Amino acid sequence: MKRLLLTCCLLASAVLAQSPITLVLHGGAGAERKKLTPEKEAACRAVLNEALRKGYAVLKQGGSSEQAVIASIIVLEDSPLFNAGRGAALTRDGIVELDASLMVGQTGLAGAVANVHGVRNPILLAEKVMLHTPHVLMIGEGADKLAKEHQLRFEAPEWFITPEQKERLERAKKKDLPKGAYIPVPDRELSLLMGTVGAVALDQKGNLAAGTSTGGLAGKLPGRVGDSPIIGAGTYAENGVCAVSCTGHGEFFIRNAVAYDVAARMKYANATLKDATQTLINDKLKKLDARGGLIAVDAKGNVSTPFNSEGMFHAHMGPDGVAHIAVFEE
Ligand code: ASP
Repeated sequence: MKRLLLTCCLLASAVLAQSPITLVLHGGAGAERKKLTPEKEAACRAVLNEALRKGYAVLKQGGSSEQAVIASIIVLEDSPLFNAGRGAALTRDGIVELDASLMVGQTGLAGAVANVHGVRNPILLAEKVMLHTPHVLMIGEGADKLAKEHQLRFEAPEWFITPEQKERLERAKKKDLPKGAYIPVPDRELSLLMGTVGAVALDQKGNLAAGTSTGGLAGKLPGRVGDSPIIGAGTYAENGVCAVSCTGHGEFFIRNAVAYDVAARMKYANATLKDATQTLINDKLKKLDARGGLIAVDAKGNVSTPFNSEGMFHAHMGPDGVAHIAVFEE
């Protein structure tokens, strides 16, 4: 009897010690009320819901936060509705150049790729860089070669290109947006360019992870790399602190080391997740006229999803397993 009681107590304390599993996703800060038809919004919500369920299933089964992040991002990359993988934004020359990154809070390890071509799921390639090379960031041909060595799935160039992104590129070209060094771009024009997907998660063991994947800004110069594959700018995770994935005008997120700055404010200035993220997006970046947003989760499962653009597709699911999906409100 005593032994049974002890086992029950141990089991109960193990369950109690579990962290509140939490998954947060974004589908980019470029959502515009005027452009988003009810049908398109419903379709995007359905994909986010599927991505949420895939990632959450991993967490529920006791899987790691990074595997949950990867599972969700694959759904978003495979969907032509979001600017990552299939449906990615096009360069000024009409080419798809993909960027992605992954960071694991438990080990502090990270992997990232930039300017890759034909790899169906760049987030899986970012994971390969992290696990199978001594590097953090690989680009172009070398990264494509690594994908082949690891037998990742490739698709033909046309598979990635959607009529919507072609049309977006034409509109972007007409705007004659700043070339080379990006300067603040007026709201309306910027929405036209933005996209990106991301995920952050807290698993049962209390480990945090973050991942981001994108085609970048529509009409970007070939070879341009944004914040998404830059650890500390577009993606960051640190156990005990937070996991962050950003979306928006990447040049500003790089110059302001946004993802890491969330963690730094929490660590060194004792800011809450909410304060740190709100200050960055709605104060610091806003004052610079930089548009975008981020998703973040802390070690206790608190969630923050601020954005200063018109809309940002985002979704989260906490320990109660209820899906929350929103576009124009946080
Ligand atoms: N941050 C991405 C980039 O600059 C774009 C986006 O999030 O919409 O490449």
